[in-house]
Amino acid sequence: MDAGLHAIIFESLHCVSMNTVDAVVIGAGVVGLAVARALAMHGRETLILEARQQFGTGTSSRNSEVVHAGIYYPQGSLKARLCVAGRDLLYPYCEQYGIAHRRCGKLIVATSEAQLPELERIRSAAQANGVRLTLLRREDAVRLEPELSCAGALHSPLTGIIDSHEYMLALLGQSQSRGATLVCDSRVTGMSLDPAGVLISVNEQELQLCARAVINCAGLYAPQVARSIDGFPADRIPTPYFAKGTYFGLAGRSPFRHLVYPIPEHGGLGVHLTLDLGGRARFGPDVQWIDEPDYDVDPRRADRFYAAIREYWPALPDEALQPAYAGIRPKISSPTEPAADFRIDGPTAHGIPGLVNLFGIESPGLTASLAIADYVATLACET
Ligand SMILES: Cc1cc2nc3c(=O)[nH]c(=O)nc-3n(C[C@H](O)[C@H](O)[C@H](O)COP(=O)(O)OP(=O)(O)OC[C@H]3O[C@@H](n4cnc5c(N)ncnc54)[C@H](O)[C@@H]3O)c2cc1C
Repeated sequence: MDAGLHAIIFESLHCVSMNTVDAVVIGAGVVGLAVARALAMHGRETLILEARQQFGTGTSSRNSEVVHAGIYYPQGSLKARLCVAGRDLLYPYCEQYGIAHRRCGKLIVATSEAQLPELERIRSAAQANGVRLTLLRREDAVRLEPELSCAGALHSPLTGIIDSHEYMLALLGQSQSRGATLVCDSRVTGMSLDPAGVLISVNEQELQLCARAVINCAGLYAPQVARSIDGFPADRIPTPYFAKGTYFGLAGRSPFRHLVYPIPEHGGLGVHLTLDLGGRARFGPDVQWIDEPDYDVDPRRADRFYAAIREYWPALPDEALQPAYAGIRPKISSPTEPAADFRIDGPTAHGIPGLVNLFGIESPGLTASLAIADYVATLACET
């Protein structure tokens, strides 16, 4: 291990003579930071190890920044429960800590008469999750958004947008003020189980660090991190799949004040319109299954975007779309399987005290992050 990194970790932990830390969180995305905050607030000495040079530069900075209401997920699933609970924690958290956000609401649109029964189906699914949506006739929807073309729509007043970077900064600040430490440039490359806890290697070298609790929040790489645990049961690790989503920005002012979503497609929510807090519009993400993560944006994908967007916004001008960025969904179900739920495995799932693996934390992971963190903090205490 690099002597400088070693010194940083131990100096910041104030335990130079003692190489045991209570809890290690692997990965400083929004979920890892929320978990670190929850552990630190429970009085646990927490070290966050992040592979990259900065926190929050993975999936957490490559998403739509939407606070989801909790509409689409199967009743009783972790996605449904943690989305609704997370949303109800997130808005007050934003108010309390001054994080930029806006409850702008969203419309889910049926672009033809044939899609109207889908709206009913979505409304009942949402209702089962405790989320109320209002069914709008075509003329009511158009009154809200004059440029919209649709046969009918659902209005979700609880959906909003958030500045995810400000949110992550707040989570990190609160974790640090409760004694947690973030160390970047520190990739966890292996772990072994010891009677006293988990021994962790960082950047291919053995760090004589023993953690009583280890929380694997490595996002796209969480299955790989789990595979690096010596002796960990392979059948407890899901196969990772990657579904890339590309975004295009809209040149000029957005004619919409609400987020606009079509009927969902397999693997994603359809090419929707989201707004940032400056009022700019972007479209996406689409769904492209890939073998390995890559964030390149292929401008040729715009052709499909024009077609999809004009289904609900026929006036989209030619040449208005500009390549923006891409994010990758950390899937644990293949393109041919039904979408998997979040998988948060604590000691009862795999038999290793103190270890929690988070797999498949795709959307609505940002919205659900505070609720995921509470859930994980409880699992981390299981023996
Ligand atoms: C296209 C897209 C759109 C989305 N839109 C929304 C939305 O609008 N609303 C919403 O609620 N959710 C949305 N999501 C989901 C949300 O972005 C994710 O659920 C959330 O960001 C996951 O956070 P995370 O901390 O688990 O992962 P990440 O942000 O990926 O963080 C994982 C961290 O682990 C680090 N890491 C990896 N391996 C190691 C290692 N070996 N050692 C140390 N560190 C490691 C990585 O560098 C990274 O920083 C979207 C996702 C995608 C892909």
